[in-house]
Amino acid sequence: MPTEFRNEPFTDFTNHENKKLMESALTKVASEFDREYPIVIGKENIITENKIKSFNPSNKTEIVGIAQKGTVALAEKAIDVALKTFHSWKNTKPSERADYLFKIADLMRQKKHELSATMVYEIGKSWAEADADTAEAIDFCEFYGREALRYAEGQPLVQWPGETNKLTYLPLGVGAVIPPWNFPCAILVGMTAASVATGNTVVLKPASDTPIIAAKFMEIVQKSGLPAGVINFVTGSGSDVGETFIKSPNIRFVSFTGSKEVGLHIVEECGKTKTGQNWIKRFIVEMGGKDAIIVDEEADIDSAVEGVAVAAFGFQGQKCSACSRAIVLEKIYDTFLTKLVDRVKKIAVGPTKDFNNYMGPVSSESAYKKIMDYIQIGEKEGRLLCGGESIGSSGYFIQPTIIADIDPNARIAQEEIFGPVLAVIKAKDFDTALTIANGTQYGLTGAVYTKNVNKIEKAKQEFFVGNLYINRKCTGALVGVQPFGGFNMSGTDSKAGGQDYLLQFLQAKSICEKINR
Ligand code: NDP
Repeated sequence: MPTEFRNEPFTDFTNHENKKLMESALTKVASEFDREYPIVIGKENIITENKIKSFNPSNKTEIVGIAQKGTVALAEKAIDVALKTFHSWKNTKPSERADYLFKIADLMRQKKHELSATMVYEIGKSWAEADADTAEAIDFCEFYGREALRYAEGQPLVQWPGETNKLTYLPLGVGAVIPPWNFPCAILVGMTAASVATGNTVVLKPASDTPIIAAKFMEIVQKSGLPAGVINFVTGSGSDVGETFIKSPNIRFVSFTGSKEVGLHIVEECGKTKTGQNWIKRFIVEMGGKDAIIVDEEADIDSAVEGVAVAAFGFQGQKCSACSRAIVLEKIYDTFLTKLVDRVKKIAVGPTKDFNNYMGPVSSESAYKKIMDYIQIGEKEGRLLCGGESIGSSGYFIQPTIIADIDPNARIAQEEIFGPVLAVIKAKDFDTALTIANGTQYGLTGAVYTKNVNKIEKAKQEFFVGNLYINRKCTGALVGVQPFGGFNMSGTDSKAGGQDYLLQFLQAKSICEKINR
């Protein structure tokens, strides 16, 4: 039996040794920028004619690596291989499957800084953010490995005289795993690990902005000795590879994390039953957020300022859990804003290979354009307090931006911007603040800063979010500690990193055997 689950510790980069290790990982990764990474289907490593070049958003001219551009035919081939492999993989012992995950976790630990350095270059994560992403990926393997063993025990049942009754969990079949670019290691690994730990096989399509970190994970999978065909890896576009996966009658479930638009499209497609399809397709769909932090007049204001600044601008606001609305009580509104602006003006923005830069670039040209458009909209909807401009032209850098006096129904208070833009809304009292917080179509994370226990209780009852935090920031959920997933248009509330998660990848079989035949 494995030891009790423990979260992978974060690296302390103020420690000289650790800093040196990360610097050499960054050098190693940079020395391999010209490498090409294959599609992996079964035992085959496949090179295609067309390529996906993965650019460094800190330095637009730099290519971090080259991935293959998969086609519809390759996507179909991957599904075929996954289907064939399912017949053997479903019969492997849960302990054997769990051991593969533990092995993968170990191999990731050995390459921890290299994986993090890849994300620093490929998607502009700061060292700390990249390190947390890698640690979370390791956690998912360790946690779901143990969870698979727990589910293998079945479920205790009431026994009936003259019968033996038993409930066991079976895998579903072939799953399509479709992750986003913003946690390109953690979410990709988490959704994949959950699928295979439970005996399913997988076709995996990483986001087109982050194929290289995904390919490095796939190299680790191959090194772990996991049987070929259990995870089939196809880089390519959402419209070709992704569509083929979600529409195929041979896909039994889709595990997706990404935007509301694509998520709802997947829900719709999963509802269409194709000829030859013998099941209702299952979907686990985690989508966007418009997360709020309420700062009450009875809060520790300095602590709230820190929490809002970090949750709004960590990884450039590109987390589904990021604080994109600060709802501040009238009485402390001006004081809070003065302090917040002072704090945010100290944030260093620049290429994240430099440890001192807290904020890096936004992910891509299209993200950059979308965010700059929202800033223009926001400037018309409220009062720009800081930021609002891009920085330089070498990368997609945008200043941390705060726009105050926003109406709760304004566009920048309702639509997910997914960038370093914070809308600040004034509320006359705590109840109004809660109503505003709940007044979007999303319900992912939220936080409340207050010292008043009655208000804390009220928030626990009425703040309608999947992940609520009291007197701390609304980002940074840990595997096993804060199971993660949202309400309403934030998704199916799958609670990744929690004990309910694996159930979604399983089906239960109840077996009753008469005694004394
Ligand atoms: P997208 O929805 O744009 O993309 C997500 C994935 O879906 C990518 O791999 C993408 O491929 C793929 N895809 C796109 N179109 C299709 C299609 N028609 N069929 C199948 N697959 C398709 O999201 P982003 O990558 O931009 O991620 C950001 C979003 O993710 C935000 O909304 C954020 O809130 C959300 N998110 C939610 C989390 C949660 O737990 N609730 C956690 C993290 C992020 P390609 O890249 O090739 O287009």
